Amino acid sequence: MDKGQGRLLRLTLKGGEARVFLCDTTGMTQLARDIHHASNTVSAAMGRMISATAMMGVNLKSDGDRITCTINGGGPAGPMCAVAGPDGTVKVTVEHPEVELKLKPNGKLDVGGVLGRDGQLTVMRSYGFGEPYLGRVNLVSGEVAEDFAMYYLESEQTPTLCALGTLVGEEVQSSGGILIQAMPECSDALIDQLEIRAELFSSISQLLSEMTLEEIAENCFRGLDPEILESMPLTLTCDCSRKKIEQVILSMGEKDIRELIREQNGCEVSCHFCRRHYQFTGEELEALLREGLDRNEEKA
Ligand SMILES: [Zn+2]
Repeated sequence: MDKGQGRLLRLTLKGGEARVFLCDTTGMTQLARDIHHASNTVSAAMGRMISATAMMGVNLKSDGDRITCTINGGGPAGPMCAVAGPDGTVKVTVEHPEVELKLKPNGKLDVGGVLGRDGQLTVMRSYGFGEPYLGRVNLVSGEVAEDFAMYYLESEQTPTLCALGTLVGEEVQSSGGILIQAMPECSDALIDQLEIRAELFSSISQLLSEMTLEEIAENCFRGLDPEILESMPLTLTCDCSRKKIEQVILSMGEKDIRELIREQNGCEVSCHFCRRHYQFTGEELEALLREGLDRNEEKA
């Protein structure tokens, strides 16, 4: 898949007893790894976070709605944050992307180690207007998938099976996830079947390196009447702009902006998500400040 691009399938099982989201975020994870110059373990953590947040984001209703997921586990990589929208766009950032740990005894990347396990997963749903909705759970393992499954169970009372995986070598080989939610009318027979297959889902990154999303759906859910409702594109992209950065600068307040003008004759602000740099000269800051003050007077 092209760098920055991904894809998501939405399907149901047994005529709607369970709903499933299945995504391939390989190209998106590669772009995130490049943007942040991330280590292998942090790349894997970002891949899992991108997949989980994308699968939540596509459930939002209106264009301007956003979901912001933050894992703050006290690990050496620092907090990791991803934001997704209903249009399949995702952005991700982490404080220390370069951090690397040695492999776990089972040969796997130590995602729980770099993110840490002592903290919380916070999920914020913000709408075009009104107060955002905030949900929070204590981390189970910092391995991301179990933490999201716990969030769905505790915050939304929805039994959820979540598997996320990212294979990283020189490049990102595969990355994606699967989320299965039992609807209230779900039969015990279907739940039993899903539990039996949980082991298969847990190797999602391996499956993605061998099969298309449609083939995975067909193979993993054979006999459970999988019905694909939708296939939609996902994209790793940032919505920052000079206008938005100007608002951030203005929110610092007049005193701090005057200090930037006096001491540095300008400033450089970089976006945490896409690492783009925005330069402002002293004169531009002056003009911005005047504009901001004028606007405040109009309001008053
Ligand atoms: Zn940006």
